[in-house]
Amino acid sequence: FPGMDRISPLDDMIGVGDMVLLDPLSEDSLISNLKERFGHQEIYTYIGSVAISINPYTLLPIYTPEKVEEYRNCNFYELKPHIYAIADEAYRSLRDRDKDQCILITGESGAGKTEEASKLVMSYVAAVCGQRQEVSQVKEQLLQSNPVLEAFGNAKTVRNDNSSRFGKYMDIEFDFKGQPLGGVISNYLLEKSRVVRHVQGERNFHIFYQLLAGGPAKLLNRLKLERNCDRYSYLSAVSENANGIDDAAEFETVQNAMQIIGFTNSEVTSVLETVAVVLKLGNIQLVAESKANGMDACSMAHTAVLGEICELVGLDETILENALCCRTMEMKREKMTMSLNVAQAYYARDALAKNLYNRLFNWLVNRINESIKVKSNERKKVMGVLDIYGFEIFEDNSFEQFIINYCNEKLQQVFIELTLKEEQEEYVREGLEWTPVKYFDNTIICDLIENSKKGILAMLDEECLRPGQVTDSTFLQKLNQVCKNHKHFESQVIQNAKHISDATLPRHCFRLQHYAGKVTYNIDGFVDKNNDLLYRDLSQAMWKANHKLLKSLFPEGDPKKLSLKRPPTAGSQFKTSVVILMKNLHTKNPNYIRCIKPNDKKAPSLFMEPLVRTQVRYLGLMENIRVRRAGYAFRQAYEPCLDRYKMLCKQTWPHWKGKARDGVQMLLTTLGIPKEEYAYGWTKIFIRNPKMLFDLEDKRRRR
Ligand code: ADP
Ligand code: MG
Repeated sequence: FPGMDRISPLDDMIGVGDMVLLDPLSEDSLISNLKERFGHQEIYTYIGSVAISINPYTLLPIYTPEKVEEYRNCNFYELKPHIYAIADEAYRSLRDRDKDQCILITGESGAGKTEEASKLVMSYVAAVCGQRQEVSQVKEQLLQSNPVLEAFGNAKTVRNDNSSRFGKYMDIEFDFKGQPLGGVISNYLLEKSRVVRHVQGERNFHIFYQLLAGGPAKLLNRLKLERNCDRYSYLSAVSENANGIDDAAEFETVQNAMQIIGFTNSEVTSVLETVAVVLKLGNIQLVAESKANGMDACSMAHTAVLGEICELVGLDETILENALCCRTMEMKREKMTMSLNVAQAYYARDALAKNLYNRLFNWLVNRINESIKVKSNERKKVMGVLDIYGFEIFEDNSFEQFIINYCNEKLQQVFIELTLKEEQEEYVREGLEWTPVKYFDNTIICDLIENSKKGILAMLDEECLRPGQVTDSTFLQKLNQVCKNHKHFESQVIQNAKHISDATLPRHCFRLQHYAGKVTYNIDGFVDKNNDLLYRDLSQAMWKANHKLLKSLFPEGDPKKLSLKRPPTAGSQFKTSVVILMKNLHTKNPNYIRCIKPNDKKAPSLFMEPLVRTQVRYLGLMENIRVRRAGYAFRQAYEPCLDRYKMLCKQTWPHWKGKARDGVQMLLTTLGIPKEEYAYGWTKIFIRNPKMLFDLEDKRRRR
């Protein structure tokens, strides 16, 4: 833990700069420490080598090139806590000690994750590594992936004007000298429902507005798009414009970025055509039609927009119309066409729009990866940066929160494993005995969710694949049967049985006791969202388009490849990507940045205590400190330790002639500090309880 070697942890600090040393340790003292520091614009605070960052909502003068120079190559503990110190420590261990690194950034929406991750960490690394020509092209491409992914994956929400609606992990790869070679981006769970619906005061993904505001007239003419957002039903409900967002200028930036990354002109055009198709799908209107047999049916109200879509992508109008208004059922060897009613057809339309956009986004990530991929075979050093939604507890929690919280549960597991592992390794290095420490192990909750037989995800999949009537309620019944004895699981049926007095749990909900707190999940939509099925008629129609990009997005629409195997469910896809991510993180040395949002007004210097308290809990900061303190809270090389405290003892003052280690021993025994409070390593003294350090500091001050 580099942070714990700090020479003078208590000097020149507002509050406590490293909360491993907080005394007394309680949630209250932790919060008031953060508050005090925040009040002095000290937005960074450590817990060992974990950095906590509180969003200042104002540009502080601490990100200048001079600051980069200051933190560059200087020792972690010599300067105030800063994101640059974390980035520098990570970069230098990577370059000089050949240890792959990852920087894990979590926190709730608007807490500053993306700002810290994508902008500060990446620009720091870009600033400190080489300036050669080839290198700067790689750097430029890596940096430019940001505006592109933000245009397509970010949106204005009530919490954040530029909120990332997807999770992102990026491996930046370096050569042995620490020069960037390229990278790989993975994306997680785009909030695709936003394509067709967003709440008042929020917006759809930026790219739609950017295209309409910034697209050249010629382009818009060809795409048959109008500048006015009000004309598009998927963009409606933007009462006030997003202040501070200049969509037209952003469009320029994105076009530029795509060019730098290496998109060809025709690729850019295809992407924008696909965006236009999504917008136009939203304007398709359907009307009811009654059939002779009394069955409900529907048809297109206006065919103009249908014509426009089909012209853009080279598709026969009747094919798309049929795909939207009917559904082909395959029974045994017979095909039957069933008409959809208006509601079903709108559902199909929206499903297509969401699916199309989601696939376009995945395509973009793959395309960017193709450009930034490292072409040579040399051995690489890797720095991963993870920017992912933190633990979410809303009033109404659904499948999405369940998935997100599962991911956070796994991240916590990695945190515990890696922290303890590193601690253990240091003990071995220093020749100390390792005594197992007590901490809350969240494996039991991870298992409840992901166990391949009895886990909630597995049961959901089983239910989704089961023939017969499957509903969210049958899923809940199943959960009740299987999980009823699990101590982290509650639902109403079981609750009664257990005589739990809290009767606030509604019938259609289940509740999980996560490491960060209890969350009640509403099961409505679990089955549907997990199935994530697109009617085959729609994928087949898309595949028939005479549009290279669009066609490639729907490979399963190819009748030759018609397989009966269904695509993996949303839940199992996510689980697979989480497993890959965790494996990846396990091979790396972790660096943590925990982001906190100080208020929900996007205002500078306002610290709302209750809000911070919730986040402190969800981020598990107390647990974090406990894990860090589990063995020895503080450790320090013998020399600086002796230097600092030698004045407390006649024998060591003013000069100690022997080895520093013996000097420290002399000091501690003379002061009569109980032996169980510390241990001697090969190079460092290990101090169990920060209290001892405070006493020493106290004595020092009183001299
Ligand atoms: P998240 O990714 O966690 O949702 P963002 O990184 O998008 O949050 O941050 C939200 C907003 O907060 C940013 O658009 C920016 O205005 C502000 N912000 C975040 N971090 C900082 C910072 N270090 N300095 C100044 N402003 C910041
Ligand atoms: Mg973000």
